[in-house]
Amino acid sequence: MLIVPEAEIAGLLTPEDAFAAIEACFAAMARDEAYNFPVVREALGEGRQYGFKSGLDRAGGVMGVKSGGYFPGNAARGMINHQSVVLLFDPESGRPTALVGGNLLTALRTAAASAISIDRLARKDARVLGIVGAGHQSQFQLRAAARVRDFEKVIAWNYHPDMLPKLGVVAEELGLPFEPVQLDGMRAADVIVTITSAPAASLMDAHVSPGTHLACMGTDTKGKQEVEPALLARARLFTDEVAQSVTIGEAQHAIAAGLIRAEDITPLGAVIAGLAEGRRSDDQITLFDGTGVGLQDLAVAQAAAERARARGVAVEIAI
Ligand code: NAD
Repeated sequence: MLIVPEAEIAGLLTPEDAFAAIEACFAAMARDEAYNFPVVREALGEGRQYGFKSGLDRAGGVMGVKSGGYFPGNAARGMINHQSVVLLFDPESGRPTALVGGNLLTALRTAAASAISIDRLARKDARVLGIVGAGHQSQFQLRAAARVRDFEKVIAWNYHPDMLPKLGVVAEELGLPFEPVQLDGMRAADVIVTITSAPAASLMDAHVSPGTHLACMGTDTKGKQEVEPALLARARLFTDEVAQSVTIGEAQHAIAAGLIRAEDITPLGAVIAGLAEGRRSDDQITLFDGTGVGLQDLAVAQAAAERARARGVAVEIAI
């Protein structure tokens, strides 16, 4: 079995590699060649969450599980709050094939999903990128979004304003003017990425202008919420996986309020595979509920493991 240490991932997988792997993964899901197993996600108290996301991709020849979670006390200990590893198995024999560090992979695959949604669903003339959130994932989100549209400006809001300057440095690196705004300032955005661990809505329906694309990426557990449910009722809805969207994603709240039905949500993979329509008009609001599926983790872990094997940077052990 191959062990690919966390520290090697940055040299093995680029954001472009992650984008290609996740697009293929979403399309395989839409063609029923790949499916996710039920998610196990447990609240451990004090905001800590731990669980398993797993699946099987027959087309990609990969099966496995990502285990890990979100531990909000870590930042104070000098560690990132997200911690995980991915374990891959040969789908034919069940033999374990690789154990891959999952922290950077998670950031790359999550940013890739949101960038794919922007690429496929945002207006081509989108110029202002809005970001709600300024934690660890937000900088990956910003970098990935900037690859798929010619943004001219980044506006951002965060519940903890002192975290915003760090995101501003990333915008500066990308050559983009950066402006902290109040939530109603988000009306100026053509694309809004939400990436917080919030337990209640920050972004309200009235804060979003017609024609905006939203990538709601922070809500991946029951009880989290980033946007007002009325916004989902106004938008054309997309997700990585409908079953997760309605239970642990942003849609859980609009479903509970009876504002939308599961049938109103289109898998993004269906748009990629040419099986469903995306945006229908320039003034339509599109919203991608990115819940994070196990198959995403397997796709990027497999790509990293293949590169590690080819370059001889992984540790091979017999188990
Ligand atoms: P982080 O701990 O580094 O940052 C947390 C962010 O949430 C900060 O911007 C913080 O200011 C904000 N926040 C905290 N409490 C808030 C509140 N009450 N109201 C509004 N905002 C609040 O976390 P991160 O690693 O950047 O992850 C952000 C979120 O994304 C987490 O919820 C994480 O579980 C989720 N996530 C989702 C996926 C996915 O695939 N969908 C993948 C990775 C992470």
